[in-house]
Amino acid sequence: MLRPGVLQRYWDWLDLPEHTVRLSLSEGSTPLIPMPRLAKDLGGGFDLYVKYEGLNPTGSFKDRGLVAAVGEAVGRGARTVICASTGNTAASSAAYAARAGVRAVVLVPEGKIALGKLAGALAYGATVVQIQGSFDHALALVREATQRYPIALVNSINPYRLQGQKTAAFEIVDALGRAPDWLAIPVGNAGNITAYWMGFKQYHAAKGSGLPQLLGVQAQGAAPLVLGHPVEHPETVATAIRIGRPARGEEALAAARESGGRIIAVPDDAILAMQRALAREGVWVEPASAAGLAGLAAEIETGRLDPRGKTIVAVVTGHGLKDPDIILRQAVDLPSIPPRLDALHPYLLAD
Ligand SMILES: *Cc1c(COP(=O)(O)O)cnc(C)c1O
Repeated sequence: MLRPGVLQRYWDWLDLPEHTVRLSLSEGSTPLIPMPRLAKDLGGGFDLYVKYEGLNPTGSFKDRGLVAAVGEAVGRGARTVICASTGNTAASSAAYAARAGVRAVVLVPEGKIALGKLAGALAYGATVVQIQGSFDHALALVREATQRYPIALVNSINPYRLQGQKTAAFEIVDALGRAPDWLAIPVGNAGNITAYWMGFKQYHAAKGSGLPQLLGVQAQGAAPLVLGHPVEHPETVATAIRIGRPARGEEALAAARESGGRIIAVPDDAILAMQRALAREGVWVEPASAAGLAGLAAEIETGRLDPRGKTIVAVVTGHGLKDPDIILRQAVDLPSIPPRLDALHPYLLAD
């Protein structure tokens, strides 16, 4: 049987214009994977799942939003879509533009984009332009360009992306039978946490499925929502959340507050440690994707969050293959031996 995409699976729940072209690359329907060992390492006594969004067609949750945004733009006649991106939006918008047969232009901050993401955007045929500045500079330029030229903006400020992205909350409730007690999620431009909250609230209003408390997590070097002001030069290894002026900051803060949760920040070394911990349980994600869980671990360790008896879902937002560099850089020297058993012997016994 063909696997429906999110526009097919949840069309009646989405506030999208009728003219929206119902594109699909079979995005969504990502697995909710139990993480019993990691839960035990964090003290145990609760159910922990990761929503593995790296299994979307271009390797990140961005596909849920871009299928809607590009479908809407194309449905009203756009022949070119444009976005600024730290990477995943670039690859995703390029893929859905390719699917729809229109052009994609993507602006990326020069030298700040992970290899797998840049390669993706190029592979799908986007026009990729490097900007000598940060993501925030690239976004400002995109806004200006869409005011002057007849091209459609598909950045996080595009409202249809949230409509597509909220389907992940629907899937979690559909899989668990109700909302989890907590949802831990990385926060960059803050569109995703905003979309999840919309989705949970919509399902709860219709089905009484409950509401989670939200734990939004930023990287310490890029934590405007924790500091309460923009960050001029955001810095973190987690490139997907290296954002100094979140487009949906106010909405995210309101969502966290309304849910009885909060937005916190974690240092890069905690993010990388959680990336390794996840991979040791078979789930390889890019650094930003581990931020939500790293935040959850910190909250549990310091006693600010009592997980006992709870069901907790951590959203892991993108695939590890997006950023192979970060792993290879840490791999130092791989052994090299002649093809003889005696040379291999010591490695077979090592643990
Ligand atoms: C875009 C992205 C984020 C951040 O999502 P926002 O909606 O910008 O908060 C986190 N992780 C990955 C892998 C992303 O691509």
